[in-house]
Amino acid sequence: MKVIDSLYINGQWQKAHGNDTVLVTNPATEQTCVSIPKGDKVDVNAAVSAARHALPGWSATTAQHRAELMLAVACEMENRYQDLIDAHMETMGCPRHLAGDLHVDAAIEGMRYYASQAHIMDQVEERGEVLILKEAVGVCAFINPWNYPLHQLIGKVAPALAAGCTIIAKPAEQTPLQDLIMAEIFHKVGLPAGVFNLVFGSGREIGPLMSNHPQVDMVSFTGSTAAGIQVATAAAPTVKRVCQELGGKSALIITEDADLAAAIRYGVEDVMTNSGQTCNALTRMYLPASRYQEAVSLAQDIVQEQKVGDPQNETVTMGPLASKRQQETVLQFIRQGVDEGARLIAGGADMPTGLEKGAYVRPSIFADVTQEMSIAREEIFGPVLCMLAYDNIEQAIEMANDSVYGLSSGVYAKDKVSALKIARRLQAGQCYIQGSYFNMNAPFGGYKQSGNGREWGKEALHEYVETKAIICG
Ligand code: NAD
Repeated sequence: MKVIDSLYINGQWQKAHGNDTVLVTNPATEQTCVSIPKGDKVDVNAAVSAARHALPGWSATTAQHRAELMLAVACEMENRYQDLIDAHMETMGCPRHLAGDLHVDAAIEGMRYYASQAHIMDQVEERGEVLILKEAVGVCAFINPWNYPLHQLIGKVAPALAAGCTIIAKPAEQTPLQDLIMAEIFHKVGLPAGVFNLVFGSGREIGPLMSNHPQVDMVSFTGSTAAGIQVATAAAPTVKRVCQELGGKSALIITEDADLAAAIRYGVEDVMTNSGQTCNALTRMYLPASRYQEAVSLAQDIVQEQKVGDPQNETVTMGPLASKRQQETVLQFIRQGVDEGARLIAGGADMPTGLEKGAYVRPSIFADVTQEMSIAREEIFGPVLCMLAYDNIEQAIEMANDSVYGLSSGVYAKDKVSALKIARRLQAGQCYIQGSYFNMNAPFGGYKQSGNGREWGKEALHEYVETKAIICG
């Protein structure tokens, strides 16, 4: 077991104030793999104070200087590639051979992407007698989940650094190692003390302290909608900027004239990626009634290609879920789907064949799902796909939009032109058409209860920018 006993505050590894610890369990082996210190109010205050002190100097550096440091960070991430892969495998059960593609590569690319955007901070717009400048928002508190721990961290840290902000980051209790490695990297490349601070601890305990701290200018939270509401509530009295990236229950509409085999493959694989723990997974699949049975048999065949098992095994496509707790939540939804009368055409609530321990869940698909069932309305956050039938495209759009969430969506139609017409009418921050994938240029974020911020794309940099107008005459 790795024992981490320090927090990274003001450019130094410091013992946490209290003696409490959190134990992290490897979800494949069920063995304790890491112990982290539980930061408290004293630690949060120290981290905020360090970030506050570092802010004037860091925000006054040139964009070029910040970009150069960020590029050095990206190179060092490449040097620590294997450690980053191991961290994902050990703490969240991601198969080793998939972790680069799913978690690490885009994070490195993200660091480089925002290095290339830093120059935007130097731009001054002249509007007649008015000068419009961009300044860093200030001290930012980042609270992240465990499902894409590195990717989520870089999605916040990289644009914040480019903008000249200083940072206090708190990873999810389950996945501290990615953040730990990043702190080591920031230290190695010589990021000034206090620009990046890392505090471990319980979200319920130190999350509110970070969110309502008067010396924090912005809090960016990614996680469940319930916790996101608590963050916003805690932040309100200090009128700080709040960026929420929350849950989803995203719809994929497949039209009658689409290439059904390609569309179903895309939809099934999308949901099973990362063992189903993806906030923007297209978990509600809407199919024309005329092709419904054909679609169900295709899905049933395609899902058999998934292989669940030990993350060390090169042939495995799905490791365990990130924790036993998450496994139990997902299994409960599967049982509920059966009780609600949906037809389980693949998977189920029993352990996958040959596996006796670990937080594994079989890739599961429900057919004959109706709009009012809880499995069609609530975020399951596991490898569970719901297939629903529609009579005409107007009804499909209405059903897709009938959700409290609006994070992502997808359309698979005959061609791009037909897909675009439907995409424009979906109430979601993103729409993936004709089988497309994550793109760093695409701003990512939710409508409705999926959140109010944007990550990635140049829009993410603007989240960290204050606009100043100087009126000259
Ligand atoms: P969670 O809300 O339980 O935890 C997320 C983080 O918030 C953790 O670091 C946790 O310690 C902290 N936390 C918990 N309670 C808090 C509180 N009261 N105040 C402040 N912080 C608190 O979510 P989770 O189970 O770790 O992650 C899964 C959820 O995250 C899913 O709903 C998923 O859709 C969502 N998610 C959204 C996005 C997105 O970009 N929209 C990305 C990934 C995950």
